[in-house]
Amino acid sequence: MVKPFVPQLVYIEPRALEYPLGVELKEKFEKMGLEIRETTSHNQVRNIPGKNDLQKYRNAKSTLVVGVRKTLKFDSSKPSAEYAIPLATGCMGHCHYCYLQTTMGSKPYIRTYVNTEEIFQQAQEYMEERTPQITRFEASCTSDIVGIDHLTHSLKRAIEFFGNTDMGRLRFVTKFHHVDHLLDADHKGKTRFRFSINADYVIKNFEPGTSPLDKRLEAAVKVAGAGYPLGFIVAPIYIHEGWREGYYELFSKLDQLLPPEARDDITFEMIQHRFTKPAKRVIEKNYPKSKLEMNEDDRRYKWGRYGIGKYIYQKDEEADLRETLETYIDDFFPNAKIEYFT
Ligand code: SF4
Repeated sequence: MVKPFVPQLVYIEPRALEYPLGVELKEKFEKMGLEIRETTSHNQVRNIPGKNDLQKYRNAKSTLVVGVRKTLKFDSSKPSAEYAIPLATGCMGHCHYCYLQTTMGSKPYIRTYVNTEEIFQQAQEYMEERTPQITRFEASCTSDIVGIDHLTHSLKRAIEFFGNTDMGRLRFVTKFHHVDHLLDADHKGKTRFRFSINADYVIKNFEPGTSPLDKRLEAAVKVAGAGYPLGFIVAPIYIHEGWREGYYELFSKLDQLLPPEARDDITFEMIQHRFTKPAKRVIEKNYPKSKLEMNEDDRRYKWGRYGIGKYIYQKDEEADLRETLETYIDDFFPNAKIEYFT
């Protein structure tokens, strides 16, 4: 049972206090009795306590920086959406395979942005550029936003913002079950609330610091009850002893829990396990005892952006994974939409 995240240390950038949410968060964290330090910019958050790199890494993951998002150019977010909407970066989870380990380098603290109105304004401009097409925004590219939102409610604001647009859709994915404050958000059906799910073996061995599967599924049922379109990302799909049974059990559990009204508008996304050489090095450093298999010789090399290729499963394994999981989904959820397998 994972408790809702409470940071051990909070940094507040002075400019954050020029925004109502910055002031609100400062007061809230003071009342909670948290240790708060002021800093001039997030690059100055250097004094994360810890005797060695590993301790610093762990402490950073419990540190929250309240800041202002300066870059308002959104990254693209294929294949799940047109744009990544930046509400926060970093995550308190400790998934061994998480790509944030490489993208956030040695300072993996969590940073939440208080200039939400400016961020929404930018989203509005992107939507207008693409009208009459729908524009989808992904809110969980750089963090597990649900996992920190019980503190900030910026995701809740985003849900309500997109609820009031004609051309915008919001989506995000989470491994946390702390969704209660989002149940009464006025989403108007424009947010797809997704949960990351996996076979027991993967969750138990590689996803410490996140909610157990049963809690995620319980939360999914609540979210469906609140009328949100629901989705699941099965990722990373990982070959391990008994993987066929493991994934079968996953879908059969989901089948037992999901109420009929949640099944008609439901999506699945599937991502097989992959790693890059730089990611492998970081994972081995941050989680030296991990059982995660990353043997280049067993995998197929796929060229990637910026010359950093990734190692994915061999063609026959990939086809087997895809076919097996798609069959389970088709059998249990015939009306679901499988958005992609990658
Ligand atoms: Fe990374 Fe998501 Fe795990 Fe957080 S919950 S560590 S963002 S994979």
